[in-house]
Amino acid sequence: MALDFLIIGAGPAGLACAIEARRRGFSCAVADKGCLTDSIHRFPADLVFFSTPGLLQIGELVFVSPSFRPTRAEVLRYYRAVADHYELAIRPYEKVTAIQPVEGGFTVKTEQAARGARAVEAKRVIVATGYYDNPNPLLVDGEDLPKVSHYYTEGHPYRGMNVAIIGGKNSAAEAALGYWRAGARVTLIHRGDALSDSVKYWVRPDMEKRLELGQIKAMFNTVMTRITRAEVETQNLVTGARETIANDFVFALTGYHPDPSLLIGAGAKIDPLTLEPVYDPATLETPVKGLYVAGSIIAGINNNKVFIENSREHGKMIMNAAGR
Ligand code: NAP
Repeated sequence: MALDFLIIGAGPAGLACAIEARRRGFSCAVADKGCLTDSIHRFPADLVFFSTPGLLQIGELVFVSPSFRPTRAEVLRYYRAVADHYELAIRPYEKVTAIQPVEGGFTVKTEQAARGARAVEAKRVIVATGYYDNPNPLLVDGEDLPKVSHYYTEGHPYRGMNVAIIGGKNSAAEAALGYWRAGARVTLIHRGDALSDSVKYWVRPDMEKRLELGQIKAMFNTVMTRITRAEVETQNLVTGARETIANDFVFALTGYHPDPSLLIGAGAKIDPLTLEPVYDPATLETPVKGLYVAGSIIAGINNNKVFIENSREHGKMIMNAAGR
């Protein structure tokens, strides 16, 4: 029998939709190509959230934490508890490959490593796939070398290494400090003329002190023009001066964007410049009847504006629209 809802993405927005669906008596499952809250699982090991626990909680289940700002480990434990408490039907490691509109709903094609391909019938589909899988590329030679990553994980493996970080916002600042503390020689390369104003007020002074003491080197107004096995090449955007510096690892912390391909394949419309889907702001339904969007995917490339705290209501909006 067809599910009332298939939700794609087991992040906080997808889980909040599933909770609301269950509360209203809809049958519902959540498919994710990775684990529960996969993006958060892949955040830096020692990450402390900017958001306070109250802003991360979903389904009105209180997030109790001893800290003003919770750690990644606490947040993962909280979302596991949420999934258990609401007995959500989560299908981890089930990747959705296509959403096909059919009479009365959708046929959703999925793939699992263990069981292979299958088709799931659902009357409605919510796409809540976030953005963390798709880094913004630098588009320079050498970006595909194995020493280049778009994700900061932890500093330890880079002790004694020459590490270049690209970007001037929060991920770049936190990574620069993390690698430096672990004993890496860190150069921050940023196209802007200073660290961004959006760097959090408790991160900024630490970073500024390291730059002042020369413990972390910063190259502002500078872009990376080429990456080779042992070096990176840069150019100053003001003076035009080019420089080649020794390098072992590059972390391009240049932000992320959503992948709209499932929505496009289902017939939804996407702005090609902003990657924002077309949807009704009151119901989050796309022009394809029964196909909804939730979470940061609604903001396209401007995903810095949609957080857990302002997308956890998406489930209620969708369920209200679905009539219960
Ligand atoms: P971001 O805010 O999108 O910043 C990306 C940075 O990369 C910007 O400085 C941008 O430059 C630069 N950039 C983008 N494309 C580039 C290119 N092609 N070449 C050179 N530079 C490029 O990404 P983020 O810092 O990863 O943050 C993403 C989200 O995660 C934010 O909402 C942030 O608040 C959040 N975050 C949370 C935590 C935490 O909770 N502890 C930690 C880190 C990040 P411009 O400044 O010139 O645009």
